[in-house]
Amino acid sequence: MNLIFLGAPGAGKGTQAEVVTKKLNIPAISTGNILREAVKNGTAQGIEAKKYMDSGELVPDEVVIGILKDRISQDDCKKGFVLDGFPRTVAQAEALENMGIKIDKVVEIYVSDEDIIERLSGRRVSEISGVSYHIKYKPPKVEGICDVTGEKLIQRDDDKPETVLHRLKTYHEKTAPLKDFYQKQGKLVTVIGQEKVADTTKLTFEAIGI
Ligand code: AMP
Repeated sequence: MNLIFLGAPGAGKGTQAEVVTKKLNIPAISTGNILREAVKNGTAQGIEAKKYMDSGELVPDEVVIGILKDRISQDDCKKGFVLDGFPRTVAQAEALENMGIKIDKVVEIYVSDEDIIERLSGRRVSEISGVSYHIKYKPPKVEGICDVTGEKLIQRDDDKPETVLHRLKTYHEKTAPLKDFYQKQGKLVTVIGQEKVADTTKLTFEAIGI
């Protein structure tokens, strides 16, 4: 099954992608995680991407499309994948089509802007595993420590309040039009993000039919 998770930053795409991919035994592809890894490793691509990421802007289409192409051509994607955070523009969605990739379903996770701001300010992430937590809604077993790697959790630079508002604006301008794009293809299903992760997961599984 080839799936896309769509939604504002902090809506819970990564969290739901994690559960769905575990259940279906397919990989989750997060262009945000791949870019953060490049930034951490100080690659030329990472250095270039960082300035966009820090200001809450989208990294140029040709860069992310190249990254996605490389990742999706790997063997583990042959039996399916979940795209988390890609496509984010109509040009990226068209690029997927031009690669000949067939998407089965697009799951929009809807959360109001007000709630997004609260969610992002409480989000903490593990830099190594990429797993994300929320101080209130998805706390780790030990405060401030990743359940998987045992490392200290951090707040992403772009989850700081001034950047969050800009990321939301970018989402509404550039990414939200994709809902229409996939609705016309009859692939869009909308899940209302719930307070409890497990409740959203239940709705997500129903929407996907698993
Ligand atoms: P995310 O972790 O998905 O919220 O992504 C973090 C940041 O990486 C975004 O704010 C963008 O600057 C950049 N990014 C991730 N995925 C994409 C994409 N598909 N297109 C453009 N920029 C992206």
